Amino acid sequence: MKLLSDFDGVWTYPDEEGVAHGAELDTALAGLVGEGERAQVLDWLAAARRAVRAEPTRWGWVSAGRLSAFADEDPFTEHGALLHYLHDQRERDPLARRLASAAEAHGTSLDSFGGRCHVAGVQKVEARRGPGITAASAAAGRQLLAGGVEIVVVSNSGTEKLDRWFRHASVPASVHPERAERSLRLRGSARKFGLAPGAGESIAVGGMRVDVARPDYAKVLNEEHPDAVVGDVFSLDLALPLALKRRDVAWRRTRLFWLVHPYTPARMRREIAALPDGEVEAVEGGLAAVATRLLA
Ligand SMILES: [Mg+2]
Repeated sequence: MKLLSDFDGVWTYPDEEGVAHGAELDTALAGLVGEGERAQVLDWLAAARRAVRAEPTRWGWVSAGRLSAFADEDPFTEHGALLHYLHDQRERDPLARRLASAAEAHGTSLDSFGGRCHVAGVQKVEARRGPGITAASAAAGRQLLAGGVEIVVVSNSGTEKLDRWFRHASVPASVHPERAERSLRLRGSARKFGLAPGAGESIAVGGMRVDVARPDYAKVLNEEHPDAVVGDVFSLDLALPLALKRRDVAWRRTRLFWLVHPYTPARMRREIAALPDGEVEAVEGGLAAVATRLLA
């Protein structure tokens, strides 16, 4: 039994990290203008966040010019959506144009500007609170390993952070496959968000459409061919596995666990609850509840 697992929102509850990432991004954008204009920029950003929250399926984390995750899927996606909005407004709003151009100085993309704010925000939280793996998920991880489940953690975070956080939580983890017996295997920098250039390819999930042209994640999925996948962001973690499950008989028995948290959007809970039985298992109670189901 092999479980392919997301990291943030499965092993952690990333509310503090999400807030810190957002604060870091707002501060960095406000820092692109002179002292006298900062209040105006902060007002603009607050209005932009309201616009993004009001239309979470219009704005989101963008890759190759298309939505890779919706604005409201976890505590981080709104910050990607803010940059999407900034980019969109640059043609019609002089302040947006100035901010976007300044953020892109020295060859930086808006995405990497946002990525740096994410890392800086998470580092500040870690310095204050320590690593964020929850006691409940660490216990569930040890229980799964003891039950003989092979676990591969596939995250956009770097392996250095993953390794440090699992070590802190006393969950055996290794980036080296040959040493991964009875320990988690870590695959960082997985770029699950990365979409292929072009028109994309989407699947219908109730009334939603989610892009599944994710070449980096497809490579990982095909290499690992897991029996189960767990994640908290449906678009990033589960849409492509669901597409495989629908179209390829070799994936039909793969179980898809979608962790539902207080931050999970109600609109997505409704859509996913209405899917045919057995396509996606919406799970409350975190990784512990997944362990119970897998080891049953
Ligand atoms: Mg996640």
